[in-house]
Amino acid sequence: MQIADRLQTIKPSLTLTINSQALSLRDQGVHVLSLAVGEPDFPTPPHVCAAAKKAIDENFCRYTAVPGIPELRQAAGNYFERVHGVSVPKESIIIGQGGKHCIYNFFQTFLNPADEVLIPAPYWLSYPDMVQLAGGVPVFVKAGTENAFKVTPEMLEKKCTPKTKLLIMNSPSNPTGAVYSREEMEAILDWALDRGLFILSDEIYEQLVFPPATTTSAIHAFAKHPDQVAVVNGLSKSFAMTGWRVGFLAAHSDLIKKISSMQGHSTSNICSISQKAALAALEGPLDCVETMRKAFQKRRDAGLAIIETWKDAICPKPDGAFYLFVDVHAYYGETVHNSTELCSYLLDKAHVALIPGAAFGDDNCIRFSYAVADEVLEEALEKVGSALRDLKR
Ligand code: GLU
Repeated sequence: MQIADRLQTIKPSLTLTINSQALSLRDQGVHVLSLAVGEPDFPTPPHVCAAAKKAIDENFCRYTAVPGIPELRQAAGNYFERVHGVSVPKESIIIGQGGKHCIYNFFQTFLNPADEVLIPAPYWLSYPDMVQLAGGVPVFVKAGTENAFKVTPEMLEKKCTPKTKLLIMNSPSNPTGAVYSREEMEAILDWALDRGLFILSDEIYEQLVFPPATTTSAIHAFAKHPDQVAVVNGLSKSFAMTGWRVGFLAAHSDLIKKISSMQGHSTSNICSISQKAALAALEGPLDCVETMRKAFQKRRDAGLAIIETWKDAICPKPDGAFYLFVDVHAYYGETVHNSTELCSYLLDKAHVALIPGAAFGDDNCIRFSYAVADEVLEEALEKVGSALRDLKR
């Protein structure tokens, strides 16, 4: 069978693949602990579920406008006002099937063949494939543990060429949990704006930042340079709504219209019921988000305390999201040679599912998601620690 050329280099999403493998091992009766996928274990807040039930009871079950119902677009715009003091009109918002879909559609709308896209590495594993599917060329700018996994304008400048069109920022970062300070972020945004680049800021984890670190958003830059900045956010991580599939993108209204035209030929509107749920989430109290944030911070601390006892692992303290990205290359040797083999070994030996760093552009590391119950995290890390010690015997 002849499949399209543009799919030849596309890899399946490893986060989702490993999650399915863990689930199927569990179905076979194996006691697998999965720290693989980044998905909050909390239930969706009750007031959000109630809004969805009401939508069903009222038979709010038809097509809606492609970019979302006006009140939800407005609520997403108001969210930026509420959290960052920047008001965004509803014409500058589109609602998509999660942040992922918004990013995918943005690339499809914005990139031309051979356009280069600067991607700080480690990166969320879907960016390069999505860029390639849109005909663009991913260009990686690597930051290791020595840079606390953060890039600087100087590092970006070295990879910038006349073909560079776009920079992707993701703070807090998946997979590293790194959070750029206001100064660090502003220096990068100023550099990119001066260079005439467009910036896509993926802020899906912005509600999950641990003090003393603070949230920084590119929405301020969008207010000043609406034709050079877009901001993506969503409800999956902040409101524990992964399955509802709701994300939103703030961008220039002309760009939003184009994305909407394209979306109209693929998914149309997102689920009408999810839109009502999202409206309740965005307009409702944020204390449920705060409760979850505090629980994640406690887990970050507990997880890090265990990892710090592993003699040969390095983990810069993450200030946000719910991942620990641990440099484990000192354990590579005769038995395992890279992060993929190490993750297979840990799944076999410790029955813990993890994602190899190679998938995120750093083969020295492996990613632990701590979006799991405290006792699961503790048991999984104890088992991994003991399996790693065996490698050194
Ligand atoms: N973004 C989450 C993760 O990295 C969910 C899965 C995915 O879409 O990649 O685990």
